[in-house]
Amino acid sequence: MTRLLVAGETLIDFVPEGHGALDAVETFHRRAGGAPANVAVGLARLGEPPLFWTRLGEGPFGDYLARTLADEGVREGLIERDPDADTTLVFVSLDPDADRAFSFHRNGTADTRMRPGAVDDDTLAGTEWVHAGGVVLADEPSRTATFDLLSRANAADAVVSFDPNARPELFEGTDFADVCRRAFALSDVVKATAEDLVAAGIAGPGADDGDAAELARAVCDRGPHTALLTRGPDGALARATPDAPWNPTDEPLVAEHGGYPVDPVDTTGAGDAFTAGALAALSAGDPLSEALAFANAVAARSTTAKGAMTALPTRSEVRSLREAHEAT
Ligand code: ATP
Repeated sequence: MTRLLVAGETLIDFVPEGHGALDAVETFHRRAGGAPANVAVGLARLGEPPLFWTRLGEGPFGDYLARTLADEGVREGLIERDPDADTTLVFVSLDPDADRAFSFHRNGTADTRMRPGAVDDDTLAGTEWVHAGGVVLADEPSRTATFDLLSRANAADAVVSFDPNARPELFEGTDFADVCRRAFALSDVVKATAEDLVAAGIAGPGADDGDAAELARAVCDRGPHTALLTRGPDGALARATPDAPWNPTDEPLVAEHGGYPVDPVDTTGAGDAFTAGALAALSAGDPLSEALAFANAVAARSTTAKGAMTALPTRSEVRSLREAHEAT
C-alpha cells in the first residue's frame, strides 16, 4: 500500500546570494525546488517517503534533480526523464524580510509535458492520499494529465489534496480562476494562502491573513471538506466540515495555531513544508489541531536556511523545535 503520492514539477531555484531586486543580483545558489518536489522531500525527511510523479529534462540540471530526489529517499518509480525537453529554471529575489519574487524560465520544459495515464489505476487503487499543485495546471498536456490523476484518485477513494500555489502569470490563454475552481471541486483538502484565493477569484482583492476564517469557509463551500489557510509568521487556520475524517463532530471544526517564532533566512517553500507536515500528520490519523501545530513547526524550521529543501526537518528536529518553544 502506498500511503502518499505527490505529483508535479521539480525545478531549479536559483536563490540569490543577497537581498535586492533581480536586476541587481550577481550571484545565485543552485537549489532543487518546485512546490510538489518540496512536499515530496519534506515527507521523505519526516520518514514518509512518497511516490513522486514528476518529469525532468535530460542534461545536467535534470541529472542534478534526479540525484537530489534519490539522495532524499523519494521513491523513484514515477520519476520520468524527457529526452526532448529542458528542466524548468526559476530565478528568485529576496527582500529584506526574506520574502521573495520569482522569474520562471519554463517554456515547453519537461514538467509541462507530463502525460495522462502515467500513474496507472492499480497504483491509485493502493494509494491513500494524492497531492498536486497548481503550477502544472498552466500548460498542456500537464494540465489534462493532472486533472486526469485527480479525477481517478477521487474515483479510487484516495484523499485528494491541492495547493493552488498561485502563479497566474504562467497561465497564458487559460483562466487561473477557472482552473482552480475545477481543481477545488476534485479536492478533499486545499492548502492555500489569502493571496492564492484572491488570484483564484475566491476572495476579494483586499483579502488577507486576517480573513482566514472566512476564506476557509469559502474554500469548503467549493467542494473540499478541509481548508488549511497559512498566514506566514502568524501560523495557520484550518476548517473541516463534518464529513472530514478528522472531524468527529456534527459541526464544522475550526482550529488555529499561531506558528513558531524563528529567525527566517528564506521563506521559499515554507508553504510546501507546511503541506508536508499536514499530510504526514493527517494521513497518520492525528487530530486537526495537532496536525496544524506539527505543520507549522515543519514550516517554521524550513525557513531557517536558504533554499526550499535545505532546512526541511526530520521528526526529531520538529520535536526539538516544539520542545524549545514550549520551554520558553
Ligand atoms: P511559500 O509560497 O513560500 O511556499 P506560502 O506563501 O505558501 O509559502 P506562508 O503562509 O507564507 O505560505 O507560510 C507557510 C507556513 O510557513 C506558515 O503557516 C508558517 O507555519 C510558516 N512560516 C512562514 N513564514 C514564517 C516566519 N517568518 N516565521 C515562522 N514561520 C513561518
